[in-house]
Amino acid sequence: MYYSPLADSHGWHYGLSVPICAGKLGELNSFPVEIVRQKNFLYTVSKYGKAVYGEKIRKTGEGYLREWNPKRSKVAAAILKKLSELPLRQASSVLYLGASSGTTVSHFSDICRSGKIFAVEKAYDPFVKLLDLADSRDNIYPIIEDAGQIERYSFFINRVDFIYQDIAQRNQVQIFNNAAAYFSEARDAMLVIKVRAISSKGSEKDILLKEASKISGFRVIETIDLSPYSRSNYMLRLRRY
Ligand code: SAM
Repeated sequence: MYYSPLADSHGWHYGLSVPICAGKLGELNSFPVEIVRQKNFLYTVSKYGKAVYGEKIRKTGEGYLREWNPKRSKVAAAILKKLSELPLRQASSVLYLGASSGTTVSHFSDICRSGKIFAVEKAYDPFVKLLDLADSRDNIYPIIEDAGQIERYSFFINRVDFIYQDIAQRNQVQIFNNAAAYFSEARDAMLVIKVRAISSKGSEKDILLKEASKISGFRVIETIDLSPYSRSNYMLRLRRY
């Protein structure tokens, strides 16, 4: 364990917070250094000091620490539930399907500070907020489109390293498979499966297994039940075969 270089002069998290990757040597590259954990609280280190969804923000010597709320973001929930790797880097180019108003997008934007977040959302109301967010940052590219209609937005995107999808639709795996086949250079992905969007009956495990078996091109590395933060939602971390 080592001290966070982000501790401020008031000692707010001096000696308590560590980048989440701190620990065993083998784990050092599993999480971006922009993610900081203090007990059960997560933060991203941000260039930006403005709250996006009411989260707490503290100034540090090197920028800001933005609290990453696991009840509002399934990625934060997955990390707190022991996700073993978040394959994002500062220069990553991310295709984000189901961006909504940009809660999780904003944290990806903190992490991939020299990269690009292509954020696809089809509903007008959240998209308006996403536009505001993109206006105030330099690495978010909002796209109002149906994520399944790749030919309508792919011309906008030059390279994708990582695909993230959080779309509560019956055909969520089909949408993912199409994107994964199209953006074939993407090596890593994370897919949220909301089992009750598939069926209101039957065991969650059976539905989840059936949906996971439909994923093509990628194998499932780990599956995380996001309850109690987000019930009936599972985070699948995937890697290309
Ligand atoms: N990922 C967001 C976050 O963590 O901040 C929350 C996403 S919310 C659970 C799901 C979003 O997917 C909704 O905003 C919905 O409008 C959007 N959505 C559903 N179907 C879609 C589709 N086919 N194409 C694009 N967006 C879609």
